[in-house]
Amino acid sequence: MTSIAKDQSPQRIEARTTTLGQGTLIRRALPSPRKRTVGAWCFLDHAGPVQFGPDEGMHVGPHPHIGLQTFSWLIEGELVHRDSLGVEQILRPGEVNLMTAGRGISHSEDTLTNGQRLHLAQLWIALPEAQRQCPPAFAHHPVLPTAAQGGWALTLLAGEAFGEVSPVEVFSPLLGLDLVCEAAAATTLPLRPGFEHAALVLRGEVQVAGERLAPGTLLDLGTGRDTLTVQAEAAAQLLLLGGEPLAAPPLLWWNFVAPTQAEMEDALADWHAGGERFGQVHGAGAPRLVAPSLAGLHLKGG
Ligand code: MN
Repeated sequence: MTSIAKDQSPQRIEARTTTLGQGTLIRRALPSPRKRTVGAWCFLDHAGPVQFGPDEGMHVGPHPHIGLQTFSWLIEGELVHRDSLGVEQILRPGEVNLMTAGRGISHSEDTLTNGQRLHLAQLWIALPEAQRQCPPAFAHHPVLPTAAQGGWALTLLAGEAFGEVSPVEVFSPLLGLDLVCEAAAATTLPLRPGFEHAALVLRGEVQVAGERLAPGTLLDLGTGRDTLTVQAEAAAQLLLLGGEPLAAPPLLWWNFVAPTQAEMEDALADWHAGGERFGQVHGAGAPRLVAPSLAGLHLKGG
């Protein structure tokens, strides 16, 4: 049983900002020193919105992953995913790309054209012990369950809500819900009290559990809630995440999720060796990424 606090007031966590490639603004909401995971969601980047110049785009060269699923939710623009399984997949707004790294995969991500807009939420999901060494896989989900409620358009990204189940295959009890309104909207969502939840505004302003939120702040809602009020005065978009709290969050370093540093070191050696584990990505718009050094680091769990 999860212990449920009687009075858990929401905690505001400021995302760290960083840039990617040609100055694309990234707000990294997870992991943060105050909140490493929300259920098995262990990484959350909010990229853009950005309008690229006529000769500019985003190009992330081939890089490896282990122990996680990458989950890309596109709001504006077009992205091309290429991976070492030979998959080449365009991602468009309203669609999800889900890549299950398991024991190892590599991939690249490029904007489809220069001069386009880009607005993206990219998340990672830590794989549980039974799946973290599984063979790599990729799935594209162009259609997800939707519902309308109190002026909000809801899209079920992961898990279960409004009597529907998301087709996105995850291996831990999770919720991912996108809420969009084009004018004033208000509703109360049912939540599972055994889940912890967090909310991030993707555009506009939203009042979540009475807290006014704008992009760049993750609202940690804790566990023990059975409802959540979400209210906006004007056009807005909100990402709501939930999941069963992890007993022990895994280590996260560079593009790897693993329980021990020794596994990170093995994966790093295999990436340097350029062998079969991470394969080859063909057609990427940028060179293979060089890993940072693990030398002298002692990764700590939470
Ligand atoms: Mn990646």
